[in-house]
Amino acid sequence: MKNFTNYTDFDRKEDFHFESKVVHGALGCEPLTGAVSFPIYQTATFRHRGLGQSTGFDYTRLQNPTRQELERTMAILENGKEGFAFSSGQAANMALFTILDPGDHVILSDDIYGGTYRIGEDIFGKYGIKFTYVDMADLDKVKACITPETKMFFVETPTNPMMHIADIRKISEIAKSIGAYLVVDNTFLTPYFQRPLDLGADIVVHSGTKYIGGHNDTIAGLVITSDNQTLIDHFRLQLKSHGNGLAALDSWLLIRGLKTLALRMEKHNENAKIVAEWLRKHPKVTKVYYAGFEDHPGYDVMRSQSTGFGGMISFAVDSVETVKKLLEGVDMILFAESLGGTETLITYPMTQTHESIPAERREAIGITDKFIRISVGIEHPDDIIKDLERALS
Ligand SMILES: *Cc1c(COP(=O)(O)O)cnc(C)c1O
Repeated sequence: MKNFTNYTDFDRKEDFHFESKVVHGALGCEPLTGAVSFPIYQTATFRHRGLGQSTGFDYTRLQNPTRQELERTMAILENGKEGFAFSSGQAANMALFTILDPGDHVILSDDIYGGTYRIGEDIFGKYGIKFTYVDMADLDKVKACITPETKMFFVETPTNPMMHIADIRKISEIAKSIGAYLVVDNTFLTPYFQRPLDLGADIVVHSGTKYIGGHNDTIAGLVITSDNQTLIDHFRLQLKSHGNGLAALDSWLLIRGLKTLALRMEKHNENAKIVAEWLRKHPKVTKVYYAGFEDHPGYDVMRSQSTGFGGMISFAVDSVETVKKLLEGVDMILFAESLGGTETLITYPMTQTHESIPAERREAIGITDKFIRISVGIEHPDDIIKDLERALS
């Protein structure tokens, strides 16, 4: 590991394993003082020593050392060229879709995160950009949606909340054949389990609020690009113009969260498998959606592109009464929106995460009033199961 004395150079840590990369980031220590915990640069502006003598930092809206450390670390972890940290996952996606021109067409996963759907329909729709939603697990259906205006594919895999699996390599081939971008929302798996840029994606987006931060303590968004100068210039301009860059304190929270990402993801993955198998046997549970089941239709594709299944499970129960009992009866498990933190959270997509999606579309993809989503935390799995068992009985 190199000893840096400035903010210009950093180490991509190519020879490190992922577990070491998350701990040591880009610069790792602060280069001037050696501070082991990267400082929170709570400053709006930076002093210039003389005319034309910038330290590389001029004004925090453009760049801040703490945010830069986070952005570089994310680029290293996703094997990307550059990273950009936004004030939320929504802000990251807003910045993403502005790359399109009026008349352009986007193809998205059909059970996409509700907020992404809202950005498409309610914001960019009125600027003449068109959005088509399709089950990305079905490549023939994907191809059938292509028009001469298709400029982007936006994929979640596994999807939220139906756990459909898209083949990133194959969709990347389709996108490349028509000169369109492939964007993967990697929030559910994180680069610990899946690195879409290595599989042919052009851009990775994250809600950093979820597993990257990992502690349900801040809101953040991240974009990582492949080595494409047009994309890099686009996102730099968005941060500078929209002024929606992540603040220094929040950047620091993500840097700290990242240090335990590998450990947390292992535990989320292990616990989710135990909970999914238990749920599947429960008489009041009618169906469990979990990509780690060997009989899941996307299991083989997932095994070919990811090294784990993550901590998310969806399931349907026998009645709305059971839903009510479960949501009100859990004790350690928290009935709350969001996912990816240390605490197990239980969510009701119909009125929470997917509320913006029109009722018929929701019903068509299977998000009914008996549908529940659970973000399995890192507690002891016996306690998670005990809590579910009691609430369900
Ligand atoms: C939460 C989430 C978002 C939005 O991120 P925020 O940080 O809440 O703005 C986008 N995509 C997915 C898959 C999410 O789970």
